[in-house]
This record gives sequence, C-alpha cells and structure tokens, in this order.
Amino acid sequence: MTEAIIIDGKEFSSNLRNKIAEDVKAFKKERSIVPGLAVVLVGEDPASRIYVRKKEEMTTAVGMNSLSYRLDANASQQELLDLIGTLNHDPAVHGILVQLPLPKHIDTPTILEAIDPDKDVDGFHVVNAGRLAIGTPSLVPCTPAGCMMLLEHTLGSLKGKNALVIGRSTIVGRPMAQLLLAADCTVTIAHRHTKNLEELCQQADIVVAAVGIPHFVKASWLKPGAVVIDVGINRVPVEDETAKAAGKTRIVGDVDFVEAAKVASAITPVPGGVGPMTIACLLNNTVQAARNLTSAS
Ligand code: NAD
Repeated sequence: MTEAIIIDGKEFSSNLRNKIAEDVKAFKKERSIVPGLAVVLVGEDPASRIYVRKKEEMTTAVGMNSLSYRLDANASQQELLDLIGTLNHDPAVHGILVQLPLPKHIDTPTILEAIDPDKDVDGFHVVNAGRLAIGTPSLVPCTPAGCMMLLEHTLGSLKGKNALVIGRSTIVGRPMAQLLLAADCTVTIAHRHTKNLEELCQQADIVVAAVGIPHFVKASWLKPGAVVIDVGINRVPVEDETAKAAGKTRIVGDVDFVEAAKVASAITPVPGGVGPMTIACLLNNTVQAARNLTSAS
C-alpha cells in the first residue's frame, strides 16, 4: 500500500515567510515605508494571548512594524471602535487585526465592519467577503488562502476537480469554497445538516475538512488518491494514562490522519499542515495591503 505524500505546511510557510521578508525589504527600498500591522487584543484569554504573541513575533521577524494594542476585558464596545477609528486613519498602519473571540458584551460583526476594508488583513469585512464572492478578491481570509497555496503546490492546476468543503463558517468554509470555485473546481459545501456526507466525500478529488470534531473524516469515506486538507485544530487528552491524569492534551485534526494517509494521495498533518500557513498568509496580506494603500495615494 502506498502512503500519501505528507504536505509539509511548516516548511512551505517558512519559505513563504522568507519570500515575504524579501518583499518587505524591496518595498522599504522602493517607497521608504515599513509595512505596519496593528494587532488588538481585548481581555486575557490565554489561547488568544499566545496567538497574538506569535503573530507579533513573526511580523517583526519579516521586517515589518508590529504595533500592539491591549484593552482590558471590561473595555466598552465604544472604546474598541474609537481605537479602530484611530488605526484606520494612521498612515503607519497598513493592516488591522482584532483577535477573536471578543468578550460577550462586544458585538463582533459591528467591530469587523468598523475596520477599513483596505486594512482588513483578516479578510472578514463584508466588502472583502463580497469581493471574493464576485470573483475580484482583494484581502482573502488567511486560513483558506493558505489551504489554496498548499493545494496548488500539491496538484498544480485545480481545474475541473471535484472539491468537497466540510464546514460553512465565514472564516474558513465559505471563503474556501469561493476560492476553489475561482480555481475552476466543481464545489460542494457540506455542513451539520448534510445528509449524504459519506457519498459526497467518495466523489471528491479534494476534501477540505473544517468542522472542529476530532477525527471526524474517516478513511473509508475517501476516494482513493484524494488530496485531503485538514483545517481542524482540536485539543484532546493524551492516550498515556499517567499523562492524561495530569491533564496533558495534544492537538489533532478533523481527519483520521493515520488511516486516511493510506487512501489519500496527499494529506496535511495536524499540527504542521494548515496551521503554520495562517500566520504566513496574514503577513502576506499585510504587505499586499501596504502596496494597495501606498500606490493609491
Ligand atoms: P465553526 O464551528 O465556525 O464551523 C464548523 C462547521 O462545521 C459548521 O459550518 C458546521 O455546520 C459544520 N459541521 C459541524 N458538524 C458537522 C457534521 N456533523 N457534518 C458536517 N458538517 C458539520 O468552526 P471554524 O471556525 O470553521 O473552524 C473549524 C475547525 O478549523 C476548528 O477545529 C478550528 O479550530 C479550526 N481552525 C483552524 C485554523 C487554522 O489556522 N488551522 C483557523 C481557523 C479554524
């Protein structure tokens, strides 16, 4: 039995970050401007703090300015809107990222809509969602953008492939489906109410799993030779009983990786697949935003 190619997102993202560092250097030389990414964190959520720190470190590592803003967990919606207003008008800021999830008393859509669409490096603003939907993408959500890079690297052209996206969130599933459609795939979107998921999976040349359920996609569902992109990040207890008792956990994806790798032709691991691509694409979007904003002026 042939084992699938393991799509190495760690290596791919490291190469992409090196390329971005070169782009930043060239950009500074041409325009005497350093691209700047403002990262806003509201509250003390431990996972969000880790994500934000990683984003800030990597921003600096590629030669861009990292601007950090921390608001108290009790900060009002208006305080956050005022900060976004200031960042929208700051010429040193080319990208704005508000770390999600926000505290419950803040309305997330209101906040995302307040960000200048041209600085919306997460690609979540309705204007950017609309641009993607009509086929004129500008700033594309980072995780699906990273998945597309891995797919194109693995398959070359995606034209005419049957692609199944499992999950329809605005952050991953929907933009992923739009990108696959733009690449001339025949796209099916499955969600929690889909009835014949197994059958749909068996017809797919490409499966993108963005569900949030550990090991949800089984090897028996896959068409032999399918390319599988696992977006899931799920924390589960480790198998070792002593470590489990100590509360140790590990990260697994939405796909039963070990068995699926015996059927697929290529598959992303978790961790080390899609995850590292997300931050690299955020940096890529920031350089893109800086180019767009400074060539318009
Ligand atoms: P979400 O909860 O917003 O969406 C999950 C989707 O799965 C929903 O559309 C739902 O309809 C669908 N779903 C749920 N149960 C299903 C079922 N039984 N059959 C078919 N579809 C079903 O989650 P999300 O934000 O899209 O994230 C999905 C996963 O991807 C999570 O594990 C998340 O942690 C991970 N994620 C990873 C990255 C990354 O950088 N790698 C980024 C974002 C999200």
